[in-house]
Amino acid sequence: MVEQTRVTHWINGKPWSGTGERHGEVYDPATGKVRAVVDFASPAEVDAAVGAAAAAFDEWRRTSLTRRTQVLFAFRELLNAHKEEVAALVTAEHGKTLDDALGEVTRGLEVAEFACGIPHLLKGGYSEGVSTRVDVYSIRQPLGVVAIISPFNFPAMVPMWFFPVAIAAGNTVVLKPSEKDPSAALFFADLWAQAGLPDGVFNVVQGDKVAVDRLLEHPDVAAISFVGSTPIARYVYETATRHGKRVQALGGAKNHMVVLPDADLDAAADAAVNAGFGSAGERCMAISVLVVVAPVADDLVARITQRMTGLMVGEGLHPGCQMGPLVTAAHRDKVAGYLEAGIEAGARLVVDGRRHPVDGAPEGFWLGPSLFDQVTPDMSVYADEIFGPVLSVVRVGSYAEAVELVNANPYGNGTAIFTNDGGAARRFQEEVQVGMVGINVPIPVPMAYFSFGGWKASLFGDTHAHGTEGVHFYTRGKVVTSRWPDPSHGGINLGFPTTQG
Ligand code: NAD
Repeated sequence: MVEQTRVTHWINGKPWSGTGERHGEVYDPATGKVRAVVDFASPAEVDAAVGAAAAAFDEWRRTSLTRRTQVLFAFRELLNAHKEEVAALVTAEHGKTLDDALGEVTRGLEVAEFACGIPHLLKGGYSEGVSTRVDVYSIRQPLGVVAIISPFNFPAMVPMWFFPVAIAAGNTVVLKPSEKDPSAALFFADLWAQAGLPDGVFNVVQGDKVAVDRLLEHPDVAAISFVGSTPIARYVYETATRHGKRVQALGGAKNHMVVLPDADLDAAADAAVNAGFGSAGERCMAISVLVVVAPVADDLVARITQRMTGLMVGEGLHPGCQMGPLVTAAHRDKVAGYLEAGIEAGARLVVDGRRHPVDGAPEGFWLGPSLFDQVTPDMSVYADEIFGPVLSVVRVGSYAEAVELVNANPYGNGTAIFTNDGGAARRFQEEVQVGMVGINVPIPVPMAYFSFGGWKASLFGDTHAHGTEGVHFYTRGKVVTSRWPDPSHGGINLGFPTTQG
């Protein structure tokens, strides 16, 4: 792993040489120390990146599908060869365990593999002879410069939900990663250059709201793919659509896992611990609410508590570590604040993560896993997206009450049901108002060839990420109606002398 002290932009095929006026600090959450300084792009620097992408677009969109696919395959091979290095960068800046980071890179890699099939995905339709000598056919063409704005919690996977598909479809890209863990984006930029992607097709600007705002209003940006919290997703959607752009803005989540009385309670307890505390709960698909039908609630809470006691919390690089630190001290303190708020509101704090043993430097941003029981929907621990290792149990009287609770929640990213009754599972799948549903699977993240996206306040716009919806998002349709008269000069004339001539 290369230690970096300064993280900057990548514009037109190389690191940006300018020295900006604004910067941020990038921490190693396991030690609490600053590991790098990241440049924050000014509007002029964003303009330079968009300018490079706009200049590269015409040649890239005309580059043959065969050549584009070759570059995609080369990128895929390079990423596969370097995935451990990317994972180590993610662990160093985000804090998640190395295994988890490798899993994230692998999920991103799968999107690159999906994008290698772009020739097939871009095939249009053809209707021959709709009228006399008239044919109609449809084609899909790239949009131009597309911007991707990503969150801190998946610095490798979330950008990769988008850029392989955007680039394969013939667009050029400006990526604005999270300022909290900005280095993976630069690693990708270097891999693209090695893969033979022409300069300017993939650019990275580092920064904060200033950079985002310039992208949202820039006249040469055709589309925005955003992932982050719901208030910012809504702001991005409203601002960018007002500027005439195509937008998909994926927001926050509050994912419920319903446990019916006939469920395998050991499987449900394992799932709750994995999905609640994996990546310290900093996953948009993390389970944060367990909706337990009352007769099995005491039993399930006991099984979860027992599993939580043995969870190894420590530095993500340590073998055997199951949960790392939170991303920043401020975020750790905010999450810890919810423990007090829950107690004050009358929830029962069964396991207090503040007391959990930690294998790591004392200055790290630590908070162990916590479990609340007897949570009700009016409490802030239920209503807010905590985005940390805090699991809440809400007890309900029936399946119907459970579904009503899930459907009343403003978010609709992921949900799961644990049951041995196929009929109940099928009914849940039909009735629940959530975009991604797991049946005895706690984190139902779709494979790359399906599309990822939530409902309600978890997604603004109507197109999900990757899969065929991703291809649709990054292209627009064109339908051609053609009429060719029969040859009128008595035959095909290829310009050669004839026997009469
Ligand atoms: P965030 O909303 O704070 O930041 C996301 C991006 O927006 C970052 O690049 C950030 O620099 C930028 N940004 C932040 N504030 C801004 C502002 N005022 N104006 C313009 N841009 C701004 O989110 P985060 O804390 O980085 O990530 C965690 C959130 O992302 C959680 O809410 C999580 O649920 C969500 N998330 C959702 C999904 C999904 O698929 N729905 C996936 C991953 C994360």
